[in-house]
Amino acid sequence: MSTRFVVGVTGGIGSGKSAVTDRFAAAGVVVIDADQAARTVVEPGTGGLAAIVEHFGDSILDGDGRLDRPALRRRVFEDPAERAWLEQLTHPLIGEQIARELAAATSPYCILSSPLLLETRQKDLADVIVVVDVPEELQVARTMARDDNDAELVRKIMAAQLSRAERLEGADIIIDNSGTLADLDERVAELHAEFLARAELAREG
Ligand code: ADP
Repeated sequence: MSTRFVVGVTGGIGSGKSAVTDRFAAAGVVVIDADQAARTVVEPGTGGLAAIVEHFGDSILDGDGRLDRPALRRRVFEDPAERAWLEQLTHPLIGEQIARELAAATSPYCILSSPLLLETRQKDLADVIVVVDVPEELQVARTMARDDNDAELVRKIMAAQLSRAERLEGADIIIDNSGTLADLDERVAELHAEFLARAELAREG
């Protein structure tokens, strides 16, 4: 078990998770991305992909033998039993992958960035939970501007995520990202100093 200090960062779509973690990364902090780990555990040649193919059949692969993620999403979207099957397979694999990456990280503390931090046992890997928060209207506006999506689709994605209130309830620290990116620079710098100090204490303890 690594004794490294781990800061979990989460937030709804368009809240500014990437904007936040980019800033910590620029300060030299290793950022582990749960979405990336979720892709790693189903790459060609993995046991994860083999189990998915055994369960759903070859039609779940694209022409290159890689997981056809949109096809998989369609298969589980309206089928809770299939979704549960997929999650019982992938969640432990993703957890192990994240744990390996945390163990290999070399910065004084590291960041675990995950949209599903609070919904999964990933939260148990974090010593402190940071929620990036903006009012819902700003979340919609920034996501629309970034992804060129319409408001209806963004709201649908938001409806499938935790509510703002639920997320805030799970937070140890809240980053209010309703200001400018310069405001965010300042807030991240302040938190970076705090996390360095806490990581140092954790090492001594
Ligand atoms: P997430 O990773 O949580 O989905 P992003 O970090 O991609 O969110 O932020 C969503 C969009 O809003 C991006 O285009 C980003 O550049 C922009 N953005 C984030 N924070 C701010 C801010 N404080 N002011 C203006 N734009 C922002």
